[in-house]
Amino acid sequence: MADQRMITEPSRQVPVFRTCDVLVVGGGPAGTAAAATAARMGADTVVLERYGHLGGMSTGGFVVYIERMTDWEGRQVIAGMADEILDRLPREDVLGPPDELWGSRDPELVEYWGDRSNAHHGVVTWSPTVDPESLKIVSSNLLRERGVKQLLHSWAVAPIMDGNEVKGVIFESKSGRQAILADVVIDATGDGDIFAMAGAPFEGDIESDDIHHKINVAFMLGGVDMQRFYDFRREDSEEFRQIMNQGFDGGLGSDAVPHAMPRNDVALFMGPRLSGYSATDVEDLTQVEIESRDRMQEVLKFYKDNLPGFDKAWLLSTAPQMGTRHSRRLVGVKKVVREDWTQGKLHDDEIGVSPPPNPRSPNVSIPLGSMLPIGVDGLMAAGRNLACDPATHSFLRLVPQCWVMGQAAAVAATTAINAGVAVRDVDTAEVRSQLARQGVVLHQQAGSPDGLTM
Ligand SMILES: Cc1cc2nc3c(=O)[nH]c(=O)nc-3n(C[C@H](O)[C@H](O)[C@H](O)COP(=O)(O)OP(=O)(O)OC[C@H]3O[C@@H](n4cnc5c(N)ncnc54)[C@H](O)[C@@H]3O)c2cc1C
Repeated sequence: MADQRMITEPSRQVPVFRTCDVLVVGGGPAGTAAAATAARMGADTVVLERYGHLGGMSTGGFVVYIERMTDWEGRQVIAGMADEILDRLPREDVLGPPDELWGSRDPELVEYWGDRSNAHHGVVTWSPTVDPESLKIVSSNLLRERGVKQLLHSWAVAPIMDGNEVKGVIFESKSGRQAILADVVIDATGDGDIFAMAGAPFEGDIESDDIHHKINVAFMLGGVDMQRFYDFRREDSEEFRQIMNQGFDGGLGSDAVPHAMPRNDVALFMGPRLSGYSATDVEDLTQVEIESRDRMQEVLKFYKDNLPGFDKAWLLSTAPQMGTRHSRRLVGVKKVVREDWTQGKLHDDEIGVSPPPNPRSPNVSIPLGSMLPIGVDGLMAAGRNLACDPATHSFLRLVPQCWVMGQAAAVAATTAINAGVAVRDVDTAEVRSQLARQGVVLHQQAGSPDGLTM
């Protein structure tokens, strides 16, 4: 039970570090895309990031498996910033099929790429796995080239409010407590830290059947031979099944499975996933670190002792960032709900398209309103803290969709600043045409043969 006493901090003067047009808080996929895009559109842009690198979960959380960007026909529906980032990675740092194979149903290709998480439901997809260090470098270089001011090792601790308008953010670092003033702040913390502190309503209910609320520290094993592991799984499938069942029954967890990396001698584990913890409770975060490390030692021992390809495995690295899938979700001007995408609803303020979670549903329309808070101005929320229901969160939280939202938030913010209006009053037609010019895939009104701009 926490101590119930309170203390009062004395009020103090905070030096203004800088003023900018667009301040992006959080340098994960959404924040990196937002900062790169705002600067591309001419905005004086600052990104604040609490760790020493960009990429958030996609680098520091070891979530290097970039989920599907193609639909079930093999059409690329997430492009724009996704292409800008992925095209910059050296080819040897990307594990994924060339574009001419996307959408293939050839059984041999499906089997090969299925092992490498690039084929689902019998279709080859564009869902590559990338090297995290390479992605950090590419992300940083992109922002440097565009002239974004990066402030790393900087933790945003409070919004600066003028009534119901956010005017900037106070942050803390080794330099002390400082302020940044901005025309628009984009909350890309993933956890909605800024909108929560600004008093915007949010929610946190979960879909208990889905993994979206689970949390854990991901890790990598070195010294493995993944090809040998896949060969054994295919050639001795019955023995493989027995070994795995023995592990699962012994408490390993059915999600303790390796994921292929661009290098054959490294295996990534994004589980075992833990339930029942809050990503915004410091004691829970501490407990998840401790428990995850216990679990990864069990996984290492099991694989080393039982699975071909893992006999020389060792614990190469553990993710420096807590693997948080879900915490706060904005209550926004629009909330994306399951019925929207099962019924193929097209939003008039659509700023991007997501592949559906399964082949039964059509491509999913993402609205600008899902990033706009109710009742708070000068602020947007991009990334996994968007306004949606838990079923929708299960897939709109993924890395490519966060790139889409970050890019769109920046276009909306910059367009609003240039027009001298609040972001909630921005001309959505102008935002959409700017996004299309930047290569973002959008549903067209009518007339195009496949209904998409690409
Ligand atoms: C274990 C795990 C497995 C996953 N598997 C996949 C997968 O296979 N494929 C896929 O596409 N997606 C996957 N996801 C989901 C995906 O990684 C995230 O939803 C996505 O990275 C969210 O992007 P984001 O930019 O919104 O937030 P994040 O990636 O969380 O980035 C937020 C950034 O903000 C920073 N920040 C937070 N608070 C502050 C603050 N107060 N001040 C300054 N900086 C702050 C953080 O340090 C971080 O860098 C997985 C997630 C996890 C945890």
